Amino acid sequence: MITTSTENYPLFVGGEWIDSGEQDAVRLPYDGSPIATLPLADEKLLSRAVSAAREGAKAMAAMANYERADLLDRIREGVRQNADEFTRLLWSETGKPIKEARVEVDRCQQTLLAASIEARQLHGEVVPMDFAPMGKGRMAMTVREPLGIVAAITPFNVPLNLALHKVAPALAAGNAVIHKPAERTPLSALRLARVIADAGAPKGAYNVLHGSGPKLGAAMLADAHIDMLTFTGSARVGEEIRSKAGLKRITLELGNNSAVVVEPDCDRETAIARTVQGAFGNSGQVCISVQRVYVHSSIAQSFVEQLKAATEKLKIGHPREESTDISSLIDEAAAKRVEEWIQEALGSGAKAVTGGARRYATIPPTILTNVPASARISCQEVFGPVVAVYPYDKLDDAIAQVNNTPYGLQAGIFTNDLQRAFQSARKFRVGGVLINDVPMWRADHMPYGGVKHSGIGREGPRYAIEEMTDLKLICWKA
Ligand code: NAD
Repeated sequence: MITTSTENYPLFVGGEWIDSGEQDAVRLPYDGSPIATLPLADEKLLSRAVSAAREGAKAMAAMANYERADLLDRIREGVRQNADEFTRLLWSETGKPIKEARVEVDRCQQTLLAASIEARQLHGEVVPMDFAPMGKGRMAMTVREPLGIVAAITPFNVPLNLALHKVAPALAAGNAVIHKPAERTPLSALRLARVIADAGAPKGAYNVLHGSGPKLGAAMLADAHIDMLTFTGSARVGEEIRSKAGLKRITLELGNNSAVVVEPDCDRETAIARTVQGAFGNSGQVCISVQRVYVHSSIAQSFVEQLKAATEKLKIGHPREESTDISSLIDEAAAKRVEEWIQEALGSGAKAVTGGARRYATIPPTILTNVPASARISCQEVFGPVVAVYPYDKLDDAIAQVNNTPYGLQAGIFTNDLQRAFQSARKFRVGGVLINDVPMWRADHMPYGGVKHSGIGREGPRYAIEEMTDLKLICWKA
């Protein structure tokens, strides 16, 4: 538990707690004060984790579907019972407001529930071999088999639920996991390790290491004994991983500069409220944060005025305060980068509708208009509380702008015209379309993932399990 002084968090390998090694500090992003220390894992500890995971994988694979499902149910119960502590760890390590941390802990339980349901009914199918003469007299079935050791590398913004989107399906499928959380946010994963151990998971089924991406993450990718690497993070690192993965199985959940289209016939109040939440929730540090808003020109001016009024009601403050809507970014360097991108847009003709000065790692929610499409704030992933609003006359032009990006995670459209909504949905080049909502909406059981540079593969336990298993065919001749 985090108190006023820093606390030491050991790593978790093969069912044992490891507190030796060079120590690293975790800081409260809001003011940079140290809150915890923990050891950095070296290559020796990674090899130890791989040996432990090999044994863990054997034990997980030997469990029946219902036993893995029961294990996941016990882990969910452990998260529920310790929800307050997880909430405190999450706001402390990420700087997100406490109410958003609480939502994350609730959603973790949904992810675990979905994984347990999938574990219980993991199955293959009967293949009709007699579809052609050569198959006459033969029957076949498929079974899903675990891969073995899954390495999970996760980002800082939603550290517990995005970890569980890898850990829960991996265990559901009968694999063992070696997890490397983001450098700044390892505490919730280490608390999860205690819950998983208390739930009775086999030794080595879940191992947590702490270390830098370029060093420890790269060593995980290079380790030939690791069967799969599942990564969530930036497109830059995703590309590097893909180029070095060789034949190792990988899934990549990467970034986006998400857009939403607002048609004049929509429910305006909903569109405003959801755009504020979608753009500024978690200070815009969500892979599907609303970054670009295309509003029909007939309503653009009044929409911007209403958006400004709703945004200026958000309360900026310390993450532990219940009334706080907006707190800090992950660190001062991230806030300085976002500040620089805003200045660059303003320097090239953009107008600030609302915003303000950076205070350490906190950037006030910012709305810009007249942003050139080439400004970084528009064409790259800003990962901060900034949104650019553009007017349009023709819906097809707005859709073309939404698609005019290397990314393709999710997009949204607000309209009450069903025909237009579904026609647009087919035209967006993304992994998921939200009709009458912003792209920053996700349920934990749904298929989730991107096209183009937003990634490879899908998450959501049912779909992640497909990625984390091999399909084996068993064919017999009567
Ligand atoms: P990041 O890419 O900097 O780091 C993510 C993880 O990769 C960290 O654990 C880091 O230590 C590790 N890493 C860094 N370099 C590595 C390397 N060379 N080899 C192996 N691992 C390495 O991302 P971040 O700043 O932590 O998170 C923000 C990014 O994550 C954004 O781009 C965001 O869009 C993306 N994201 C995507 C999703 C999704 O589901 N698509 C969800 C959340 C965040």
